[in-house]
Amino acid sequence: MNTAELSVLAQQAGESAYRGQQIARWIYRRGARSISDMTDLSKPLRARLEEQHQVGRSRVAAQQRSRDGTVKFLLALTDEGGGMVQTVETVGLPYAHYLSCCVSTQVGCPVRCAFCATGASGYTRNLTAGEIVDQLLTVQDTATGNPPPLDRVSHVVFMGMGEPLMNYDATVQAVRLLNTEVGIGMRHLTVSTVGYVPGIRRLAQERMQITLAVSLHAPNDQLRQQLIPTMTRWSLDEILDACKAYFKSTGRRLTFEYCLLAGVNDGVRQARELGHRLRGLNCHVNLIPYNPVGKLGFGAPAILRVNAFREVLEQMGIVVTQRAQKGSDIDAACGQLRRRDAAERVGATSPS
Ligand code: SF4
Repeated sequence: MNTAELSVLAQQAGESAYRGQQIARWIYRRGARSISDMTDLSKPLRARLEEQHQVGRSRVAAQQRSRDGTVKFLLALTDEGGGMVQTVETVGLPYAHYLSCCVSTQVGCPVRCAFCATGASGYTRNLTAGEIVDQLLTVQDTATGNPPPLDRVSHVVFMGMGEPLMNYDATVQAVRLLNTEVGIGMRHLTVSTVGYVPGIRRLAQERMQITLAVSLHAPNDQLRQQLIPTMTRWSLDEILDACKAYFKSTGRRLTFEYCLLAGVNDGVRQARELGHRLRGLNCHVNLIPYNPVGKLGFGAPAILRVNAFREVLEQMGIVVTQRAQKGSDIDAACGQLRRRDAAERVGATSPS
């Protein structure tokens, strides 16, 4: 709930609207883990709220900390009904001048990219906006006490498990909550998509000043269909047309993500093909050298090939960045920690 909704809630409980602002501050800024933490609310109000509402965090089922400061959490969600515990990953990523959080939007992912551990684990359900914001608050809890500016999460990327635009309403609601309630600037929020055209076109209409990051991973439809076999409905041309509409509506420069897979899509010829596709677009390309995952059959590209790929794009006038590798000593790739946890749980209960 945002402040306005919490104010209505307070008024329904016979209190002034101002109480809603206090509750919002406790939840989003002061790290309250329960309604009883909200000590400046009267006891009767806290009791009334507790009858129908819940504040808190998902349980941390596993946690890994890298030597470079990256912290990865596996959060346990308790689903209603069967009570079966589902898990999602979230990551805190410290950079030189800011702290970023990578959030998941779905339990598993329906897209099933051929190289992704999350896709290989299947899809269970969408997360709620609350479950998405909860991930940021968990990372924020561990940052408190760090020297500034790393004591506050200031950037959020929707690049964890799931395809955010296939969980459109919760993603947009979470973006708005992170902006208005947690205080993260729209320009510090990035929503990633693998090229889900209806979602891109709908997001363009919101006119939010967030960054849209579109994962291409291939310079032509044929290769893209091999890497992202469930996304064959829209051609690269249709995806780029939707991206142009997004830029026209928001004025925000586009980011294209390109995961470099050894010997698959990391050749100079493919770099040229990609450059031709993107020429004239107000964009930058973010190259992501692949972080190998188990038995999926893809390898990390050689540094020389990454550099050559980058140089070709730059010579064609395209701005290129390369994602800094973080958490290489932990299960850093999306879905890896969850897979390991699931395997260990199966192992723990297996008769063998
Ligand atoms: S890379 Fe992203 S879109 Fe593709 S399967 Fe993994 S989580 Fe889903």
